[in-house]
Amino acid sequence: MSTAPDSPRPAFAFIAFDAAGQPHLKAQRCTSCGATYADSERIACGRCGGRANVLEAFTPAREGTLHSAVIVRRGFPGIEVPFVSAVVDLDGGPTLKGTLRNVGLDPADIAPGLRVQVRFDDALGRRDKEGNAYVAHYFEPLSA
Ligand SMILES: [Zn+2]
Repeated sequence: MSTAPDSPRPAFAFIAFDAAGQPHLKAQRCTSCGATYADSERIACGRCGGRANVLEAFTPAREGTLHSAVIVRRGFPGIEVPFVSAVVDLDGGPTLKGTLRNVGLDPADIAPGLRVQVRFDDALGRRDKEGNAYVAHYFEPLSA
């Protein structure tokens, strides 16, 4: 864990901070068909086409199940490899992509069905113009 920034910024639109400055995920759920979305500014449901206030905001669970993952061994300059890029079905939705940490780099270590939890941490040391850090979400195996 890096040093705590004074005014952290969300690295993604689906990350928000509570009054105490603690990060959490935010999402939308369709009250008509139940579809969930991590992008929280939709005006219509992509599944049923519902509009006009059919989408309600909610805070997703911080635990979920690994849907799929790949081991990334080549990256842009400045991106440390290898890392594991994962797609996770959060309990109750939505499905979210992110980096899976604290796992081995054997395909057996990242098999679909692995239970994971969401953690928030500094986003690779990046800073905005005012020097504020960015906070990103990461997945880690759920402790037994
Ligand atoms: Zn819908």
